[in-house]
Amino acid sequence: MKKNKNTTNNTHQLITFFKFTVLSNAEDEVDAHREFIETNNLEIRGRIYLNEQGVNAQMSGKGTDGETYARWVEKRAPFNGMRISVYPYHEHGHPDLRLRVKPQLVQLENGTAHLPIADTSKRGTSLSPEEWHEMIEKANEDPSDKENPLLLDVRNGYEWDVGHFKGAQRPVQESFRETVETNVDDKIGPLADMPKDKPIMMYCTGGIRCDVYSTVLKEQGYENVMVLEGGVQAYFEKFGNEEKHAWDDHLFVFDNRLAMTPKGTPAADLGEKAATLECHVCKQKNAPPPHRNCPNVDCNRLFLVCEGCSEKLDGFCCHECTQATHVRPQLVNPGRYKKYASYDTPEARAARRGDGRQRRKQLRLRKRKLACAEYVIRTVLGDDEAASSSNESSSGTFAARTRSNNKVEENDDEEDDDDDEEKEEEEEEPEEWDETGKEKKIKPQNSKYLRLRMRLEEAIPFVQGDISPEKLVTAMETLNINRVGGRSAPERKKSLEESRG
Ligand SMILES: [Zn+2]
Ligand SMILES: [Zn+2]
Repeated sequence: MKKNKNTTNNTHQLITFFKFTVLSNAEDEVDAHREFIETNNLEIRGRIYLNEQGVNAQMSGKGTDGETYARWVEKRAPFNGMRISVYPYHEHGHPDLRLRVKPQLVQLENGTAHLPIADTSKRGTSLSPEEWHEMIEKANEDPSDKENPLLLDVRNGYEWDVGHFKGAQRPVQESFRETVETNVDDKIGPLADMPKDKPIMMYCTGGIRCDVYSTVLKEQGYENVMVLEGGVQAYFEKFGNEEKHAWDDHLFVFDNRLAMTPKGTPAADLGEKAATLECHVCKQKNAPPPHRNCPNVDCNRLFLVCEGCSEKLDGFCCHECTQATHVRPQLVNPGRYKKYASYDTPEARAARRGDGRQRRKQLRLRKRKLACAEYVIRTVLGDDEAASSSNESSSGTFAARTRSNNKVEENDDEEDDDDDEEKEEEEEEPEEWDETGKEKKIKPQNSKYLRLRMRLEEAIPFVQGDISPEKLVTAMETLNINRVGGRSAPERKKSLEESRG
């Protein structure tokens, strides 16, 4: 394990590790991890996923909590020899802790369960950072040499944008999960029409995607597949501080930094002098790291942009997105939108949303109260048919309606997660009159009468028609007595008419 030099403000550590292995019971393993973290009172955040094929973790810890945990994991038999990357940082790099069993450790079309990824002999040949460096140096001496191995970046296109090995083509696919199928079957990308015996040197951030993809390529008959052991992170640990390394610019990472320099520091710290990357909008080489995230929810693009273009487009990625309706407020600083409920305080969340959301909530609540009052009035008056039809307007479960509003583009990164949507649903506060947090149809006959009555009183100002508030309250009180006394509906109606005098 390698550690970068600590600076004074670094109170936390950002940590990544993964290992493909064979786990007989992933649920039990998760329980053991949870217990270790709890017993030792470790403050850990991030995404730690396990399944029968192994573990994949992108996490952060307070002090050395994260390292303590990672070392403990490494000592457990299935994970012996696992490589761990540690970077000092001034805060947590992730919003919350998600430690659980996940069907896929790497997002891949068709899944990974059918791949023999735990079997190292089925993967590409590992090259140490030194071996990799030597081969790349040699290839770069004469890039036109047909004997050079193919340098294959198996990450996402936007990751390449912020930095890559000299001589590596930008991935054709925007996402890794599409890579395997499209490269081979659709005959596009660097592997199209390439002889199967041509050497391939492939790399990714930490090595996990290469473990998967090299297995696929070997199954497809590619004979000479080599992978950079430990990924670019391992290369940086060896060569990041050297004058001559084969890497251009920075490395995209999946924690809050979004990009780190070969020396292992956040690329954002470089400021203006690092504004040499290609702007997604004007195509000039004047964009600083890290990426920005398009405020258009349906776009959600991560892109590099120069200051001028960012201002001109209000933070959006293109003109078209500025016209979108499903948008988030522009972020002051670059980075991803924070979609996580526990990432910040409820106050900050409310402030970010503005009072528009509160207003809409109030409006929704008022509508419900109105519908509720209307139902009771109609029931009391014996207009049962009308009452049941007035209920139809609020059909569809709360979750279903929320879901349609929260359809966010899935992230398909090696390290990224696809269950942010669940989180967003949780953010929505449950409706006030609903104890379970789920919407239910209003059935006064079996709901808690007093609560209903209180709300009806609140609803009175919104009730249209010829029933005065006083009469409604009297009617409700009558109804209450009726319920207790168990009187029938006609009797209730009669007493209501009496109360209306
Ligand atoms: Zn620009
Ligand atoms: Zn956009």
